[in-house]
Amino acid sequence: MNILILGGGGREHSLAWAIQQNPKCDRLIVAPGNAGIAEIAECARLDIEDGGAVCTFAEENAVDFVVIGPEAPLVSGVADALRAAGILCFGPDREAARLEGSKSFMKEVCTAAGAPTADYARFTEAEPARAHIREQGAPIVIKADGLAAGKGVIVAMTEDEALAAVDEIFGGAFGSAGAVVVIEEFMEGEEASFFVLCDGTDVLPIGTAQDHKRVHEGDEGPNTGGMGAYSPAPVLSPEVEQRALDEIIRPTVAEMARRGTPYSGVLYAGLMIKDGAPRLVEYNARFGDPECQVLMMRLGAQVLDLLLACAREKLSDARVNWAEDHAITVVMAARGYPGSYAKGEVIGGLEDLPEDSMRMVFHAGTVREDAANGRGALLSNGGRVLNVTARGASLKEAQARAYETVAGIDWPGGFYRRDIGWRALTD
Ligand code: ATP
Repeated sequence: MNILILGGGGREHSLAWAIQQNPKCDRLIVAPGNAGIAEIAECARLDIEDGGAVCTFAEENAVDFVVIGPEAPLVSGVADALRAAGILCFGPDREAARLEGSKSFMKEVCTAAGAPTADYARFTEAEPARAHIREQGAPIVIKADGLAAGKGVIVAMTEDEALAAVDEIFGGAFGSAGAVVVIEEFMEGEEASFFVLCDGTDVLPIGTAQDHKRVHEGDEGPNTGGMGAYSPAPVLSPEVEQRALDEIIRPTVAEMARRGTPYSGVLYAGLMIKDGAPRLVEYNARFGDPECQVLMMRLGAQVLDLLLACAREKLSDARVNWAEDHAITVVMAARGYPGSYAKGEVIGGLEDLPEDSMRMVFHAGTVREDAANGRGALLSNGGRVLNVTARGASLKEAQARAYETVAGIDWPGGFYRRDIGWRALTD
């Protein structure tokens, strides 16, 4: 079959890597892709947030199945357009993607479903929001309702910080994403991510992960898109996983179906776990980046069968073939990230690295010197540039393999955290 993946980061490189290993995949196109993806698939230029353009492209290229990577095309309704055109597609419709796109919507659904999550209140004006903060006290969590690339959430340790966050959001710092402010109870515990496929009715767990958001070792410094991740997450034991499924995920999926907006795609639940009890922090309507890279490394070629079963509403027949393995990914970023950084630096050494089912370097922000012809030196082209990913029989083994691979990459302008996986290794 002919498959089109939308997106061009490390997440999509790992999806492409897993999918193209499956014999069902005849032709693989990724839009826009990147220099690493270009080595295993065709890359195409396409406005991936324009549903009409994606449908036309899919029809012209006899695409049988479209996999949507990032949230922006989901929120802009690309899955709706594809389904309306009769094209098989992996990813939720616009209305279902609101579980990620609107924090107050997610809260409303959780309340109706009885899913445990932080208590909250929703505000459209600053004065009542301020009064609520004074009444509740700190710590407290202030969120812009819409998508703000992870920056619209302020975990305020003092009342003053919380009040300033309200002013900032209503002051327009996040544009229309901040027209509504959600104020939440601060939850304590350990965070972990749980990934399940949903076909509107049935759900299938496909793995757990933990990421490292802060830029520096020891989880210090500013937040980033993620500096590394590993799977499985030890805190999500089989018992906690079962509780998350029974108490949070299944009730949410049932509530979405009851509303006439069934959820189809991957549902990524950010959980806070305390004393063995999971509570929902957030839902995402797509795979995490870099969590996807560790999931793909563990699942391999069967991913295509699972995504197809999901899109065809046949999840009740699908099974994951688990290996008792662990995976880790170390993000190599451009010096200066998440602040300003240089692009266009030469990255060497990748040609000589052994890449196989145990280790892969997924590309995030890379480009070839001669981009039009896909030739020439490999250049950095973003903040997060490479995701060095490895598997092993234990996390320790996977970690050693990943860092051994990092050592073979020649990029003086890059940096990475040397402690990815520390929490799971010291527990
Ligand atoms: P991202 O893109 O980083 O996932 P987001 O904008 O979707 O961010 P959330 O996931 O809702 O935002 O919040 C970001 C982080 O803030 C969480 O990963 C968690 O560490 C913290 N956080 C959010 N809500 C709470 C809460 N109620 N209690 C404690 N911490 C919270």
